[in-house]
This record gives sequence, C-alpha cells and structure tokens, in this order.
Amino acid sequence: MTEMISCCGLRCDQCGAYLATQNDDDEKRAEVAENWSRIYKADIKPEHINCDGCLQEGGRHFNYCSVCEIRNCAVEKGVENCGHCGEYACEIIEKFFEMVPDARTLLDRIHAGI
Ligand code: SF4
Ligand code: SF4
Repeated sequence: MTEMISCCGLRCDQCGAYLATQNDDDEKRAEVAENWSRIYKADIKPEHINCDGCLQEGGRHFNYCSVCEIRNCAVEKGVENCGHCGEYACEIIEKFFEMVPDARTLLDRIHAGI
C-alpha cells in the first residue's frame, strides 16, 4: 500500500482505525477502541472507530482527528503535512513529538526532502 501520511506525521495506512474502516471489520474496531481507550484514557467506543485517513477530504475522520489543531493548521496553510511547512518544527508539532517520537522521524525526513 502507498504511504499515507497524516498532517502530524502518522502513517494512516498503518493505523488500526483506518484498517478497521476500510475492511469494515467490527472485531478490529472493538480492539482499537479498547486499546485507544486505555492509552488515551478516554471512553472510545467501537462505533467511533471510522476513518478514511487524515487527508481524505469529505471522508470519515476519527473524532479527534477531525478537530485536531495540527490538521486544521496544515489545512489552513495549504500544506500536505507539517514537514512541508515553512514554520516546521513549530511549538505545536514539537509538543506532539513528545508523545509520538516516530512522527518526528518521518516529518524530519520529509522536511529534509529525503
Ligand atoms: S487520521 Fe484517521 S487514519 Fe489517520 S491516524 Fe488519525 S485516526 Fe488514523
Ligand atoms: S505551523 Fe506547525 S502545526 Fe501548523 S502546519 Fe506548520 S508545522 Fe504544522
């Protein structure tokens, strides 16, 4: 599958919510909901697990991703992801990297044009 990179540097094509949605797999939705509820200390239900990927305009987005500050900012600036932004790496994305260091690796690579 082609790499699908979210605005904040996540791999949507490897995301459990994306895979559960594309395969319409309710077991996977339940598994992702349980894991994410534990990790993010939130009440996430299987029916919340529906997402067509961060860059999918007009598609379904997981609740948090549809209100995500980083995604909204990238859309406003007209960049595909933060790695293409002139203000990279700003404070907002730096804060996110503290939680998800892998996203930095990916976006640094994009920013360097590698
Ligand atoms: S936008 Fe959707 S597919 Fe991408 S990381 Fe977020 S929940 Fe997963
Ligand atoms: S300003 Fe920061 S959050 Fe916004 S698109 Fe640029 S790098 Fe991403």
